[in-house]
Amino acid sequence: MAQNQTDPVEYPDVLENIKEICYNVENAKAKYRKSGDEVRIMAVTKTVPAEKINFAVKNGFTLLGENRVQEYLSKKDLYDKTAEVQFIGHLQTNKVKYIVDEVSLIQSVDSLKLAAEIDRLAGKKGRIMNVLAEINIGGELSKSGVSVEGLEELIYGISGMNNISLKGLMAIPPVGSGEEVFDKMHGIFLSVKEKSIPNVSMDILSMGMSGDYETAIKHGSNLVRIGTRLFGARKYLEG
Ligand SMILES: *Cc1c(COP(=O)(O)O)cnc(C)c1O
Repeated sequence: MAQNQTDPVEYPDVLENIKEICYNVENAKAKYRKSGDEVRIMAVTKTVPAEKINFAVKNGFTLLGENRVQEYLSKKDLYDKTAEVQFIGHLQTNKVKYIVDEVSLIQSVDSLKLAAEIDRLAGKKGRIMNVLAEINIGGELSKSGVSVEGLEELIYGISGMNNISLKGLMAIPPVGSGEEVFDKMHGIFLSVKEKSIPNVSMDILSMGMSGDYETAIKHGSNLVRIGTRLFGARKYLEG
């Protein structure tokens, strides 16, 4: 192992959590999915110090999910360079410039205005930015995400953009959601996929967090985003 980072710090609790999450994910896959289906596990990093994140990376959790632009910018230089970073938090158009050259995927695109700004800045950098459309599947007023009714317009709008490529859907089902909410999300994912829209490939269904990742896997998720269950309770509450 390269010694270009600070000395490795041991986090036995995180190691236990990693084992348990992997076990549960494998179990859910065996129970509910066809063999060969892949489910990626993302480590959600908000409020977690870089050394602890790097410990998870070294132990196989190499996909990181970032919520806040400021926090990410303050930590990114400390991250293990083998990690892949995706953006999952609410993104203001005026902050796109800080991450467009940094992350491999933006999961939280919920408006044409935001998509257009990502398209514009990715074009300036000469790259194609991969994105997911975030759906407000629970219709919660306090949550970001495009409404189910507004999804089609967003998808066709992105389809026409040159420097942005739509790879799938993301959702945060409300806490305590019944399985029908996860199933509805899976249904939307499959119906968009069936349409074979140009520049739109429904490869990724990002759904499931600490409290519901097994349910999400049952209903077609292939990317689960885990924070608390991996790193422990966060120090302050999320806005
Ligand atoms: C915080 C967060 C998560 C992880 O939540 P936990 O319940 O701590 O696992 C996943 N996705 C998004 C978008 C988040 O903001």
